[in-house]
Amino acid sequence: MIAVRKLVKKFDGNAVLDGITLEVEQGEIIVVIGPSGTGKSTLLRCINFLEQPDGGEVQIGDVRVDATRASRAEILALRRNSAFVFQNYALFANKTALENIAEGLIVVNGWPKAKAHQRAREILERIGMSEKADAYPAALSGGQQQRIGIGRAMAAQAEVILFDEPTSALDPEWVDEVLELMKQLAVERQTMIVVTHEMQFARDVADRVIFMEGGRIVEQGSPSQLFSAPKDDRTRAFLRKVL
Ligand code: ADP
Ligand code: MG
Repeated sequence: MIAVRKLVKKFDGNAVLDGITLEVEQGEIIVVIGPSGTGKSTLLRCINFLEQPDGGEVQIGDVRVDATRASRAEILALRRNSAFVFQNYALFANKTALENIAEGLIVVNGWPKAKAHQRAREILERIGMSEKADAYPAALSGGQQQRIGIGRAMAAQAEVILFDEPTSALDPEWVDEVLELMKQLAVERQTMIVVTHEMQFARDVADRVIFMEGGRIVEQGSPSQLFSAPKDDRTRAFLRKVL
C-alpha cells in the first residue's frame, strides 16, 4: 500500500537518506528506531514531500510520485493520502482544539466549515477531549496538545499516519496518554509509521521494527526478532544503549 523505492536525500552534498526501499502493508504498524542524526525524520518528511527527495519514488495508495519530476498536483495528492504528527505538536496557537482539527479538512480537503466542525466533534469524542473543544493550545497540557495533533491526523482519514517522535517533547507524566491513543489506533489497524525511542511501545504494538543508521535500513524484523536476536553489530550496539 505504501512503497518507498531507492529514496535519496542529500543536504550539502551528504546523503542523509542513502537509497531507502521500504514496503508497508495496509494496517501494518511500523516502528523506526536508530541513533539521532541518522535520517529518521528526513525519511518521514520525504515520504510526504515535506522535504523534497533528490531521488527515488514514493507511492501511497494509488498515488505514485517520482522525486525527480514531481508535480505540485502529485505532491498534494500524496499529502492527502498521508498525515503527519509532529514532535512539537505544531498546533495553531490562535485556533481552538476543535478548529485545529477542522482546519485541514477545510483548507486541504475543501470541506464546508459546518461539516468539518461536525467531524472534528466526532474526533474529539473519540480521543476523549470533547470538553476541551473550545480551549486554545496554551490552555492544554502537552499530552492534550499532542492528542489534538493526533486527532488532526485522524480527521484526515489518510491511508497512513507518520509519527515523528510524538512523545519525546512531553513531560514524562503525559507520555502514557499519548501512547494509549496510538495503541487505540493500532488496534483499529490504522496504518502507521512511528519514529520513537519508546521501546516498550515498539514491543507491544509494532508488526515490524526497522533499525536505521547512516541513512540506511540496517536491519528489520518482528519486535521479538529484532530485540531478542539482532543480527547486525550496529543494531546490537544501539539496543545495548537504549534497553
Ligand atoms: P534523525 O531524525 O534520525 O535524528 P534527521 O533526519 O533529523 O535525523 O537528520 C539526519 C541528518 O540530516 C543530520 O545530520 C541532520 O543534521 C541533517 N539535516 C536534517 N535536516 C537538515 C536540513 N534541513 N538542512 C541540513 N541538514 C539537515
Ligand atoms: Mg528526528
